[in-house]
Amino acid sequence: MNHKMYAYINGRIVPEERATISIKTHAFNYGTCAFEGMKAFYLGRKRWNLFRLHDHVDRLLRSCDVLHISSPKSHDEIVSLIKRLVIKNSFPEDTYVRPMIYATPQGLGLGKSVSTDLAIFCQPVDKNHLREFDAMFSKNVRIPPSVVPSIGKITGTYVGSFIAQREVTERGGMIALMKGIDGHVAEAFGMNLFVVKRNKCYTPPLSAGPLDGITRRSIFEFCKNDLGLKVEERLFTPRFMYNADEVFLCGTGAGINALTMIEGHRIGSGKCGQITRKLSDLYQSVTHAKNSDYDSWNNIVK
Ligand code: PMP
Repeated sequence: MNHKMYAYINGRIVPEERATISIKTHAFNYGTCAFEGMKAFYLGRKRWNLFRLHDHVDRLLRSCDVLHISSPKSHDEIVSLIKRLVIKNSFPEDTYVRPMIYATPQGLGLGKSVSTDLAIFCQPVDKNHLREFDAMFSKNVRIPPSVVPSIGKITGTYVGSFIAQREVTERGGMIALMKGIDGHVAEAFGMNLFVVKRNKCYTPPLSAGPLDGITRRSIFEFCKNDLGLKVEERLFTPRFMYNADEVFLCGTGAGINALTMIEGHRIGSGKCGQITRKLSDLYQSVTHAKNSDYDSWNNIVK
């Protein structure tokens, strides 16, 4: 497909090939960029649902606070730029949206006073569908919240997740799971993690180091309101997961996916379980604006 792509940079929407930065940029050298990953789910007939847009922009601004940088734009300005860019790109499919607030000083000097700018790009992505994965624990631990608080989605932090995923892939695994520095489970590479045992869900608390995921927050609501399932945030070690009924991962990028094998231990029946499937179906219908109970999370653009 030869679809023209547009990005926002330096205060303007431009053809994506012109959205470039200098190699001397602070963020490129030091990972000083607060960013978001959100989706505009395609509803057909040139309509998209920017799911939980305001929560993503809130988290973006809180990531700026974590970095001690200020945003060049307000919440409402960022929201309206994202909407404009989705419409300008008009991909007839689900569209991943990546806003970035990055440190712009040029040249050497980590501790320079930090000016910032906003850049946004969009990318068409395949529809989410429920998949089954096997996973292994990485030797690399998740960066602790005492270094980067759980709300912070900052590019530099991702080097740890990158190394974890490389290491696990080299050992033949599909997905890297990460523990925190104290040995408790934190999350998966780029996704939050839930365990289902005897009709109850468990997920690591933010103090264990996972990102404060927005899909994670949606799962809390689905369990409570729709499945009548309790979710407990508690610390657990890998051993707690091996005899679980179900384990699933969630995040904006991949939606909800089942883990059916962990470190050679078969989880439940070895196939995606019923609760994971129900949550995935619910997530599909909610993100595609087909469930009026969650209308307040929808932001339809056309
Ligand atoms: N953990 C990490 C490290 C992530 O990068 C992501 C994706 N942003 C998630 C969890 C899932 O977060 P969300 O549901 O907000 O996409």
